Amino acid sequence: MTMFTEQNLTCADCGVEFAFTVSEQEFYAEKGFNNPPRRCKTCRAAAKANRGEGRGAREMFEVTCSSCGVQTQVPFKPSGSRPVFCHDCFQKEAR
Ligand SMILES: [Zn+2]
Ligand SMILES: [Zn+2]
Repeated sequence: MTMFTEQNLTCADCGVEFAFTVSEQEFYAEKGFNNPPRRCKTCRAAAKANRGEGRGAREMFEVTCSSCGVQTQVPFKPSGSRPVFCHDCFQKEAR
């Protein structure tokens, strides 16, 4: 049986020191992972979110508002055939 001790690792992304706790090491050993995590929890969560696996993470599309021409982001893919509005203009259009 291997004895685990808490380790301090440095995040490969942000350089912050984080604890690789005993329970995490046990979890890693159980899963058969040989390498300790390279990133802190924050960066790991961010990387997950970037892959679209994060909770509530939505892909945003860069668009130009058809009404005022401002650059904005919308949570859907613009079809091209219909006008896209920024938040402000959308509010106006809805009225
Ligand atoms: Zn980090
Ligand atoms: Zn607008």
